[in-house]
Amino acid sequence: MRYLDFIRKQKEYVPPADIPQKGHIDQLFETRTLTRDALRYLLESEDERTAEYLFFKARIRQKETFENKIYLRGLIEFSNFCRCDCKYCGIRKSNGNVQRYHMSREDILRCAELGHMHGFRTFVLQGGEDLSYSDDDICRIVSSIREKFPDSAVTLSIGERTKESYQKYFDAGAERYLLRHEAAAPELYRKLHPQAQTLENRIRCLYDLKSIGYQVGAGMMLHAPGQTLDDLITDFFFLQKLQPDMIGCGPFIPHKDTEYRNEEAGSVELTLRVLGILRLMFPEVLLPSTTALGTIDPMGREKGILAGANVVMPNLSPRDVRKKYMLYDNKICTEDDAVQCAGCMNQRMKAIGYRVVEERGDAPRKVAQMCRQKSEKRIDGA
Ligand code: SAM
Repeated sequence: MRYLDFIRKQKEYVPPADIPQKGHIDQLFETRTLTRDALRYLLESEDERTAEYLFFKARIRQKETFENKIYLRGLIEFSNFCRCDCKYCGIRKSNGNVQRYHMSREDILRCAELGHMHGFRTFVLQGGEDLSYSDDDICRIVSSIREKFPDSAVTLSIGERTKESYQKYFDAGAERYLLRHEAAAPELYRKLHPQAQTLENRIRCLYDLKSIGYQVGAGMMLHAPGQTLDDLITDFFFLQKLQPDMIGCGPFIPHKDTEYRNEEAGSVELTLRVLGILRLMFPEVLLPSTTALGTIDPMGREKGILAGANVVMPNLSPRDVRKKYMLYDNKICTEDDAVQCAGCMNQRMKAIGYRVVEERGDAPRKVAQMCRQKSEKRIDGA
């Protein structure tokens, strides 16, 4: 479907009388859950009427919590060194074709400064698992950003660490952590990763992060090599158990230097259906419309928002490192700079009736908790 048709259709949408799977979507809307079979029918359905009705209901939930606000996350890809060897990833340790880099604290701070000037109030520090930064280094980077920009949040996305390390980063001021679980189905996880990387440890990390008090993000790639719809449904059930604050979920895209170079990328249709389902399952979750979705479809990020997502993550990394952080082929925005990315995103969101806001965009659960603490303090002080 062409972009403008897609937008118009969503804006002027009135549910028709005959919608296949309508009962399942209504049930998911009301109860936030469905059986494995019903979820499979929804994922399998290629009927446009089903998809449109799913997105319509997802937008109702999205707007109840977030109105038409879109939260910005400024992504700073500060290192592409990685000790891991995930078989799908372009910056995996064994890829000898990557020109490796790591950024200094000063360079990272400069990215945050530029982002702050352009309205970003969350900085996501993402990198491979680069152990040349000690825990103290990470803490210093986090605390410098928090000191310089006390109105902003820092999210870390630096992989699997010990609970002690996670606690140190939290104490230094990191409040959020993104660690996609990648695949909750054990066999699929084993297939996508070397033996030394285990699903058990990934899940242990997520629960450690939660118990420390982070706002936690999990998530998975869609249409990862060998992934079945049943595997995806296992991901949904895992997420229901974990109850994360964020779910990062985008299409798998092949990278030329991996064994999956000839695999098919995830489709826009499947990605949108998954976003719609996730919004109905988790009405309050922070749900990015990902760069990977924008890579497989020039209007992918807009479509993701119209399917229920409420977060976008423009790149704040310096232009000279962007091409070196190639997780997959043809990644978009590698020629742009931070200012262009921010401006472009504002325009894109405005065009579909949403508004990029200059806010931290905390998880609603966290906002409620912070309000409670504030009012308790007022009562104590009265
Ligand atoms: N090292 C950190 C970690 O393990 O969470 C963060 C960096 S990692 C490169 C960020 C995410 O990129 C992964 O969670 C994975 O889902 C995604 N990714 C890696 N290769 C990809 C590919 N070929 N297609 C789509 N997403 C990919």
